[in-house]
Amino acid sequence: MSSTQPRLDPMHFDDHLKNRGISRLRRVGIDTLQLNIGLQCNLACHHCHVDSGPKRKERLDRRAIGRVLELLESNPAIETLDITGGAPEMHPDFRFLVRGARALDRRVIDRCNLTILLEPDQRGMADFLADQRVEIVASLPCHGLENVERQRGRGVFDGSIRALQILNGLGYGKPDSDLVLDLVYNPVGPFLPASQASLEADYRKELGWGFGIVFNRLLTITNMPIKRFAHELEREGQFETYMGLLIDNFNADNIPDLMCRHLISVAHDGAIYDCDFNQALEISPPGERRTIFDVDDLSALVQKRIATSAHCFGCTSGTGSSCNGALS
Ligand code: SF4
Ligand code: SF4
Repeated sequence: MSSTQPRLDPMHFDDHLKNRGISRLRRVGIDTLQLNIGLQCNLACHHCHVDSGPKRKERLDRRAIGRVLELLESNPAIETLDITGGAPEMHPDFRFLVRGARALDRRVIDRCNLTILLEPDQRGMADFLADQRVEIVASLPCHGLENVERQRGRGVFDGSIRALQILNGLGYGKPDSDLVLDLVYNPVGPFLPASQASLEADYRKELGWGFGIVFNRLLTITNMPIKRFAHELEREGQFETYMGLLIDNFNADNIPDLMCRHLISVAHDGAIYDCDFNQALEISPPGERRTIFDVDDLSALVQKRIATSAHCFGCTSGTGSSCNGALS
């Protein structure tokens, strides 16, 4: 299922920074460990930047999961474990990991595609997440059926709505509850997201009126010109145009908050990357390739240079983009 990446000039982003008097990117701290626990997913979305799908088998083994918990314990500056995939819930040790991180008093985020919560073998998962006070960041690329199903497949919109109603029933997203439910929007085509605030208002109106759904925040994420989305752009002859759009809308205000400056990303084989996108492209941090077994003190990675390439324009364009939404 994995495939080669269309051409991206690796120097273009750094040259762009240099021409504007901006230093190359360095990490300023690590408050989050983002973990790609495995690539298996019940969906196979068009824009998926990790090429996930039902047949992907790559996943973190139990020893590596134990090591992640050790690192959380020995690195108290890391406040958040952000679990992504694939569909993270499909990993057989997902509950073990969540329990372990919560026992260490860490904030845990589950990047959930919603429909996974309806799978027969995931019975009780929503209750488990609520019991563990796990924050849910749920992808829903539009509040309308047609756009969601164009990107994610038939039946996904209805399933997502049902899952959101289940989560609301448990208290997720409710104003008087500490159970956090954020939604994620990404454009359904080769364009930048509209303003996060205006899209959030649209989602509240459409999901609230139509289905009685409430949530905490809407996060907008720009489609990265890599993997499945890049190949779709190539097929449609739009790759260069989309890159041009990202570059033309470069916004230096986004630089301080780029997520790579505040986290480390760990792959399903334990390798450490500067972000989930670099991980997807297997671009290791400058210098040696390291795994979670090679480092004890993660603060050693602070102030290190970050590996960049042309896909970084996806994070710096317009109002910016990160796993926590817009940046500026
Ligand atoms: S739900 Fe997420 S991980 Fe799964 S295929 Fe879609 S984008 Fe990829
Ligand atoms: S893709 Fe984004 S988060 Fe990753 S290194 Fe580039 S700017 Fe940083």
